[in-house]
Amino acid sequence: MTETRQRVGMGFDVHPFAAERALVLGGVRIREHDGLLGHSDADALIHALCDALLGAAGLDDIGHQFPDSDPAYASIDSRILLRRVIELLRKAAYVPVNVDLTVIAQAPKLAPHFPAMKAALAPILGLPTERIGLKATTNEGLQSWGYGEGIACMAICLIETAGQYLDR
Ligand code: MG
Repeated sequence: MTETRQRVGMGFDVHPFAAERALVLGGVRIREHDGLLGHSDADALIHALCDALLGAAGLDDIGHQFPDSDPAYASIDSRILLRRVIELLRKAAYVPVNVDLTVIAQAPKLAPHFPAMKAALAPILGLPTERIGLKATTNEGLQSWGYGEGIACMAICLIETAGQYLDR
């Protein structure tokens, strides 16, 4: 079978808001709103991105790679998880080509934080910021994340066989 050089993946994650938690999205601390409940830092955007990358490579999802039953991941900075996901991809001979991310939240306003999020994610992904799409939408008051009960994130990515493996 000829090896496919490019593959797509998608990821989705939801976390509920929780008082007295720090809100971290896309690796950026957002001070104007309560944070999200979760075993790690609950960075739903990075979690969705990790699942998109893992899915594209045909690897087990984030819950299998970093189980929430493992105290090693308690309150962990999700950027560390994303770095490990990129290492797993490299071992499977893949690198990201581009990613596109959507945050669904009634609040807070996230667009002002997009440049910082892109700056946080780009070096980990090994991509220029132009290869990172980032959007936010409300849910028009519908469903849990429209009621302001939490944040949902969607991610899609393209990965390709890393250049050093192409001639094998
Ligand atoms: Mg999560």
